[in-house]
Amino acid sequence: MPHDLAVHSSAAAGVSAGAAAVPRVDFLGLDCDELGAHMTSWGQPAYRGRQVFRWLYQGRADGFGAMTNLPKSLRAELATRAEIVMPRLVTRAASQRDSTVKYLFQFADGERAETVLMHDGDRATLCVSSQVGCNQGCTFCATAQMGLARNLTSGEMVGQLLEVEREIGAGRVSNIVFMGMGEPLANYKHLLRALDVLTSPDGVGAPARRITVSTSGLVPAIDRYARDGVKTGLALSLNATTDDVRDRLIPSNARYKIRGVLDACHAWAEATGGRLTVEYVLLRGVNDSLEDGRRLARLLDPIPCKVNLIPFNPIPGATFARPEAARVAAFQKVLYDARCVATVRKTKGSDVAAACGQLQADYSSADRAASP
Ligand code: SAH
Ligand code: SF4
Repeated sequence: MPHDLAVHSSAAAGVSAGAAAVPRVDFLGLDCDELGAHMTSWGQPAYRGRQVFRWLYQGRADGFGAMTNLPKSLRAELATRAEIVMPRLVTRAASQRDSTVKYLFQFADGERAETVLMHDGDRATLCVSSQVGCNQGCTFCATAQMGLARNLTSGEMVGQLLEVEREIGAGRVSNIVFMGMGEPLANYKHLLRALDVLTSPDGVGAPARRITVSTSGLVPAIDRYARDGVKTGLALSLNATTDDVRDRLIPSNARYKIRGVLDACHAWAEATGGRLTVEYVLLRGVNDSLEDGRRLARLLDPIPCKVNLIPFNPIPGATFARPEAARVAAFQKVLYDARCVATVRKTKGSDVAAACGQLQADYSSADRAASP
C-alpha cells in the first residue's frame, strides 16, 4: 500500500553519482502492513516491517543505526531509501498559572501546529492537532480564523506525541485527545492510521479507551467510525440545544442537524461500546439559559453519555463572552437535577493561549525567520 503523503521531498543520500535522485520514504506514521510492503518491495522479508515498526514506536528510534536487530547492511540501505521525519519543536510556552505546556511544531514543509500537555493529578493529557487550521468555520473558535492549510499525516499526528514524550519520558502521557487544531473526522484516513499506530500493541500501545476523538458532528464520518468499529472515546461538540442557535455557531449544522448528529453518535456507541462525551461550550446569552439546560437534558435523556461544559475562552475579535461562574453552576445544577452527569472543564493554560479553542499556529513570530 503506498502511503500517499509519506514520500518526502529530500533526495536519497548515498545514491551513486549520476543516478536520478529518488525521494526517500518517510517511515514515521506508517503502520505495520505499510512498512512490511516497503520491505518486500525492496526484496526483504515482510517481518522486517514489524521489526522497524517496533523500533519506531516502542524503541522510539530516530534513525536506522539504532535498529540493532536488523543486519548492518539493511540498516545502511534503509538510510538511503527511507527517513524518519519528526516534527520540529519551534517554541514551548509553559503556563505560569498551572502546569500546562503548549508546544508549537513545524513540519517538513514549514506548516505549523500546536500541541498542549495538561496535568491533572497523576494524569498527563496530550491534546493533539489533526489539521493545520480548520475549514469548519465555527464562529467561536480561533482555529477557524486560520482556514485550512492542510491535513496532517498520521506521522505528523503521532510525531507530536513522540516529540513531547522525548522531553517528558516515553509512556508518560496517559491520555490522548484529538482536540487541538482541526476537525479529526475531516482527515479520516490519516486519523485512522494514526489511531492504529497509537493503539497497536507493537506500536505505541496506548489503550483505545485512553484516546478521545472530538468532532463538530460530521455525520457520514461518524457513521463510518461506527462501521469501522473504532473504539476510542468520541466527544461531540454539541454547543447548542436548538438548530437555530447551532446553525449560527457551527456551519456544518446546515447539513447535519442536532437530532441526526446525536443519533449517529448514539449508534456509534452502541456498535462499538465506546464512551460518548457531549461537549458544550457555554456562551453568555447565546446558549446558557436554564431553559437550554433543560432542553439539553431532554435531548440527551435516551443516550448514555456524560456532558462536559466548557465556559467560553476568549479569542481575538470574538463577540462572544463567557457566562458568570454562578450561571455555569446553575446550568450544571439543572443537568444534575435531570440526572444528567455534567462536569465543568477547568480552564488550563489560558495565559499562554492554550485553552480550548484558542489554538492558532503562530506565523508572525520572529522565530520563523530564524528557522531553517
Ligand atoms: N474540531 C473538533 C476538535 C477541536 S475543537 C471539534 O470541534 O470538536 C475542541 C473543543 O474546543 C470543541 O469542543 C470546541 O467546541 C471547543 N472550543 C472551540 N472554541 C472554543 C472556545 N473559544 N472556548 C471554549 N471552547 C472552545
Ligand atoms: Fe474546527 Fe473544531 Fe474549531 Fe469548529 S471548533 S472550527 S471544527 S477546530
